[in-house]
Formats: sequence, structure tokens, C-alpha cells
Amino acid sequence: MCGIIGYVGAKSAQHVVIEGLRRLEYRGYDSAGIALVGADGLHTSKKAGKLSNLENELAAHALPEATTGIGHTRWATHGGPTDENAHPHVSANGRVALVHNGIVENFAELRNELIGQGVKFNSETDSEVVAQLLGKAVENKNLLDAMREVVARLEGTFTLVAVDATDPKHVVAARRNSPLVVGVGKGENFVASDVAAFIEHTREAIELGQDQIVQISADEIKVINFDGTDAETRSYHVDWD
Ligand code: GLU
Repeated sequence: MCGIIGYVGAKSAQHVVIEGLRRLEYRGYDSAGIALVGADGLHTSKKAGKLSNLENELAAHALPEATTGIGHTRWATHGGPTDENAHPHVSANGRVALVHNGIVENFAELRNELIGQGVKFNSETDSEVVAQLLGKAVENKNLLDAMREVVARLEGTFTLVAVDATDPKHVVAARRNSPLVVGVGKGENFVASDVAAFIEHTREAIELGQDQIVQISADEIKVINFDGTDAETRSYHVDWD
């Protein structure tokens, strides 16, 4: 289980992401982290233990204000619940920050391939291979196309959410056998593992189907299938409290 959120809009992304993660706490977790991207690039903070540990870290070492961000609560499956293994994971070239819920079954072969290419890993997680693959892929394509290229190489279950240090306007997410919903706001949009993460901001949601990728900006939502074709989605109104 555990939780994921991504935000693009006009509000403080740090505030939206931390409050969203708090509403996902019921799902259980052992560490938490956040990545913000703005005009001055990508900044991350992550801590083992409770969300309050991350908040204390952010109070002690503040990140620059940004209106685009992603957040994660982790339930460790590969690598212990340490600061290093907490998400987000940043690619070696500093281009991409990625959060992942689920398991990448074929991570060992992908990791060996990347190590063979000289990539240095900073964690013991299966998830970091996705950050490293995405980091390489965005060197010659946008984050949406890079995500499409990378998910084709993954086996297992995943909700993935990523940002590109050079593109503060977009958050890109993908899902396979793991939950992901889009929150449709006015001048702001969300992705999350559960509508609870953004219910405070909007009650309009889009349910993603299996094997789909979504790109959000402040005023646009684009959903495609893993094969690149336009995706059919279902919009709905959340009417519970
Ligand atoms: N398998 C990943 C890890 O151990 C993600 C776990 C999760 O779903 O939070 O880091």
C-alpha cells in the first residue's frame, strides 16, 4: 500500500504534498520524502520513520518555494527503511526525481545493466533503477515519452510519479496493477494513489485504467496508454466526506 502524490498548480507544493501524505498515512509506511521542482531546479528531502521526521528535516533545512512537487510514503520491500532508501530517488545526472509504490520484479538485471554503463547507485531499492533509466531517457526526449520508453522495460507492479529538473511545469505518472487517480482542479491538478490525498482541493477525479500514463500541468491533463495511443478514462465526482 503506502502513498503517492504529485501536484502542479499555484499553491505551495510542499504544503500540498505534505498534507496529502498525511491523509495517506492510514495506508501504513516506514519513511517519507518529497521532491520540489522550480525555476532553480530540483530539490529533495527524505527521512526514515514518521512524516513528522520529514517535517522536522524540512524545518531545519528548508527547500526553495515551488509550485510543482511529488511526495511518497514508503513501505520497504527492497532495502531497509533508511534515509538513503526512502524515495524520491534522483538519477545520477540529476535530471529526474522519482517515487514508486510497488515492486519492480526485474530490477536486478536492469541494475546490472546500468552498473555496466557506469551508473552509481545510492540505494538498495528496486525503485532506483526506474529513476536511473528515466534520467538517461530524458536526455533526448520529454518526460512523458521517457516514461513510455521506461515502463516498457519494467516487470511487476507500480505506481510511478516523476519530475524533470528542467521542466517545472509537468508531473508525469504511470500505473500497472497499482492505484493512481487524477485530481482535476482549477489552475491546478493532482495525481495520487487515493482521492483522500487531494479531497481538500478538488472533488473532480479521473480514474486511470491499467497500463496508462498521465501528464499533468496546471491547466492540462493528458492520458495515454503504454503503447502511445490516446487513452479512454472515466471522470467522476467524489461525493463522500
Ligand atoms: N519496492 C519499493 C521499495 O522498497 C517501493 C515500496 C513501496 O511500495 O513503498 O523502495
